[in-house]
Amino acid sequence: MSFDTPVETAVAERLYNDCDYYDAESLLTEDERRVLHRLRDFLDREAKPLLADYWERGEFPDKLVQPLIELDLMEPAELAADGPARGIYQGFRIFELARTDASLATWYTAQAGLFRTAIRVGASAEQQAEWMPRVVDFSLKGVFSLTEPESGSDIAGGLSTRAHREGDTWVLDGAKRWIGGASTADVLAVFARDVGDGQVKAFLVDREASGVALEKIHRKTSLRMMQNSHITLDGVRVPESMRLHNVNSFRDVAAMLRAMRSDVAWIATGIQAGAFEAAHRYVRERHQFGRPLGSFQLVQEKLARMLGNLTASLSLVVRLTEQQARGVYRDQDSALAKMQSCLAMRETVALARELAGGNGITLESDVARFHADAEAVYSYEGTHEINALIVGRALTGESAFAR
Ligand SMILES: Cc1cc2nc3c(=O)[nH]c(=O)nc-3n(C[C@H](O)[C@H](O)[C@H](O)COP(=O)(O)OP(=O)(O)OC[C@H]3O[C@@H](n4cnc5c(N)ncnc54)[C@H](O)[C@@H]3O)c2cc1C
Repeated sequence: MSFDTPVETAVAERLYNDCDYYDAESLLTEDERRVLHRLRDFLDREAKPLLADYWERGEFPDKLVQPLIELDLMEPAELAADGPARGIYQGFRIFELARTDASLATWYTAQAGLFRTAIRVGASAEQQAEWMPRVVDFSLKGVFSLTEPESGSDIAGGLSTRAHREGDTWVLDGAKRWIGGASTADVLAVFARDVGDGQVKAFLVDREASGVALEKIHRKTSLRMMQNSHITLDGVRVPESMRLHNVNSFRDVAAMLRAMRSDVAWIATGIQAGAFEAAHRYVRERHQFGRPLGSFQLVQEKLARMLGNLTASLSLVVRLTEQQARGVYRDQDSALAKMQSCLAMRETVALARELAGGNGITLESDVARFHADAEAVYSYEGTHEINALIVGRALTGESAFAR
């Protein structure tokens, strides 16, 4: 077939030539593809040249924040005629960010995934009407503050930040750990246990409120660009109007996690695409024994395994997203996707790093960044074991969580 037949022309215009083997992008509309192309151009031009330096310094490239906001990715004006942005577009938007850099994708989903979901699921209709437009245009930046220093996997039972009601005011005491994006947020969505009824409630806490102290978590070896905070809450006063009125127990928090975990599966898939593309490029350019690395059988086997992992992960997240678009949300579905895409990601980034040899451990090659950053994604929003236990509980009807 010659390259100017219509079929080949369409393929040449695709967003993803090598890393979307089964053409999942055909599920996108032309308008959605246009928005993603715009994101791609921005990332290639403005973001990529900064990544290695900022990663090494352990700083987020703040100069990218406003331009990223202006790209209007959450509810793009040009997709407005189709109603709220479709899940498949939202997934590919995360895929595209993660394909460039995991910290950028994590930074974006802190607002568009975690915080927005907290408001969508947790806020009353009145609160949503007030806050949601400001969440979408980033004029109200928020983060999701659930994990604590002494409780990660067992947060449902172990959550110990306390909320004590005094008339129309709540007083919060406790600590939160690992909270992504907190240092630049306007408000922190803080989950705390009501000492009155023992149930978990949620509060929007002003980051600058008296009694709130943030400390940067230093010396990370993964997701170095993304800033995570240790937060102390000491007698922090929050008005009842800033409590998320639809969060009345951990069940409501679990409904948020169910929705958010699919975003992480998309991130894990995007990271694989970035690592695969970088490695694929490398083995065509690098020669040993007088031949390109890509001509060796053992190298081709690794490339095929990476592509298999990536294609399986992409198929998984696309199908999960289609299910969720039909209103089917089950704990075990997003847990399975998070678990499986992260397992595949770990192997894919390790193979990519391996294929780049010594250069695979320097930031000069993209694979080193993907390899290091994958570790944090593997652990956040539910570790491998916790997601496996959620799936196991659904399969057997037996909860194997100890508490
Ligand atoms: C970069 C980064 C960003 C994050 N961002 C946020 C954020 O924005 N907001 C937020 O609230 N949290 C955030 N987190 C926290 C994250 O969700 C937790 O790290 C995660 O849930 C695991 O908790 P933990 O680190 O306390 O590990 P632990 O719970 O201490 O687990 C340690 C190990 O023990 C295993 N384990 C625990 N219980 C069991 C069991 N019953 N059976 C078998 N194995 C078990 C785990 O799987 C894991 O391997 C972030 C974390 C990281 C690293």
